[in-house]
Amino acid sequence: MPDFVAREKRSRIMRGVKQKDTKPEIKVRKLLHGLGFRFRLHRRDLPGRPDIVLPKHRTAIFVHGCFWHQHSGCKDGRIPSSNTEYWEPKLKRNVERDRQSIEALEAQGWTVRVIWACELEDNEGMERRLLDWFAPKR
Ligand SMILES: [Zn+2]
Repeated sequence: MPDFVAREKRSRIMRGVKQKDTKPEIKVRKLLHGLGFRFRLHRRDLPGRPDIVLPKHRTAIFVHGCFWHQHSGCKDGRIPSSNTEYWEPKLKRNVERDRQSIEALEAQGWTVRVIWACELEDNEGMERRLLDWFAPKR
């Protein structure tokens, strides 16, 4: 078990409770709100139940934890070297599920954006990206 995963968070996940309103997610909402973009949360009727949806832009956003969703190339996105036989199938299932959700959303005409938790360390960079995605082009 990687030590960056806090103990209580771990037990919550082990009990199979889907995480909602995580810190990175709240951060993205705050940024969007500050920039004046309108959004909705956790649309149950959409594949994969995206964390944030901007109906006007027909865009769904997933805010992903780097470990649980295996951010490729990220230091937090590696399969643990201990207990690998436990983690590998579990994490690969998550990645596969994410891939299917994105495919299904795109098939319904949605644009899908994935924001990784580690990317939120750079506030300004993230703000620029959101503007680039959603600000009216002139
Ligand atoms: Zn990452």
